[in-house]
Amino acid sequence: MRRSKSNYRCSFCGRDKSEALILIAGIDGHICEVCVEQADEIIQEELYAGRKESERDEFFMPDAVVPVGIKEHLDKYVIGQDEAKKYLSVAVYNHYKRLRQVRTDEVDIEKSNILFVGRTGTGKTLLAKTIAKFLNVPFSIVDATVFTEAGYVGEDVESILSRLLQVCDYNVAAAEKGIVYIDEIDKIARKSDNPSITRDVSGEGVQQAMLKMLEGTEVNVPPQGGRKHPEQKMVKVNTENILFICGGAFDGIEKNIARRINTQVISFSNEKKDRVDRDNLLQYINHQDLKSYGLIPELVGRLPVLTYLEPLDKEALTKILTEPRNALIKQYEKLFDLEGVKLIFTKPALEFVAEKAIEYKLGARGLRSICEAIMTDAMFELPSDKEVTEFEVTEAYAREKLSRSKLSKLKVA
Ligand code: ADP
Repeated sequence: MRRSKSNYRCSFCGRDKSEALILIAGIDGHICEVCVEQADEIIQEELYAGRKESERDEFFMPDAVVPVGIKEHLDKYVIGQDEAKKYLSVAVYNHYKRLRQVRTDEVDIEKSNILFVGRTGTGKTLLAKTIAKFLNVPFSIVDATVFTEAGYVGEDVESILSRLLQVCDYNVAAAEKGIVYIDEIDKIARKSDNPSITRDVSGEGVQQAMLKMLEGTEVNVPPQGGRKHPEQKMVKVNTENILFICGGAFDGIEKNIARRINTQVISFSNEKKDRVDRDNLLQYINHQDLKSYGLIPELVGRLPVLTYLEPLDKEALTKILTEPRNALIKQYEKLFDLEGVKLIFTKPALEFVAEKAIEYKLGARGLRSICEAIMTDAMFELPSDKEVTEFEVTEAYAREKLSRSKLSKLKVA
């Protein structure tokens, strides 16, 4: 029997179309908005029975996840940086194992906050972001340079947590299991060894203020961030289970490392001196170097997991362009595909982009702007030319487009 439009009914409650606000059609039936809502309630009851609202989106790392599995996941998004990935996988695994342990009086596992040292654009933030997504925990990025000691112009250190609260809609229970990435931690290093007449309010003062938070304590957080003021209502957040990952380039720390290695080598053997890779001293970084750079020992102690990120070479940068899940070239291919055009990037063109990123000293951060400079003309013109079905970016094309862009002025000596 063919039904006319007017006598459609909800297949669940029998409500007529005229009685329902919305009637959604399925293959062989309809459902009204009231039944959709009821169905949702049933799902919530069945799936989340006995769990509080705040616990629903709580982090839950499946028991089967082991450090090797975490690293395999990181490998899908981050190129190279094996050492940093390994350290991060172990630290995160232990962190969440610690969260689950039943507290006894015997051994208390300490927090494994992490410090990434590496040049800009080598993947420090990306690693932190990727791990947070994998674990499905709230994640926020803050810049250490905006903070100053209480009472001075700048933001209170507590507002590090405001952003974490904001990303999870002020769900304190969720925030308390989150991950915070503190960028540019090297910029709050003590400015000089001499306790000078002028106070170091954005350096040592901030480091002091961060200590308790990193270790684990109850913090009064200004919900909107910024500076705390007396009339503001504060949100209490316990940081005991929040994982802090800090990152910094520590420009010039190589000198401190070299000095330490030299003295060590003299007192041990001459053989070792030969084996030191002088071009990449960062790999030998240890906690002592951080102290001599100007981090106070207490802060260094609260960042027990220290690892470094390698500078990205041409090969790594070329891979970054094409291999990760969300690789830049894959994105351009998709964009062109939507226009019905097949995009081909030749290998020499990719290598040219990588070389330029190295030249501009921007790490992988520069790849995007270089590609934009090369691709903008094509993206501007192709949508109005329906004849084109294939577009090849050769090295000559890339070179020509880049030389005309403002970016080429970035050239460093
Ligand atoms: P930083 O080390 O300065 O924190 P980021 O992690 O923010 O650098 O990297 C900037 C961008 O460069 C990232 O969003 C990502 O697209 C890319 N990138 C950097 N390093 C890598 C890497 N090792 N693998 C894949 N992409 C990377």
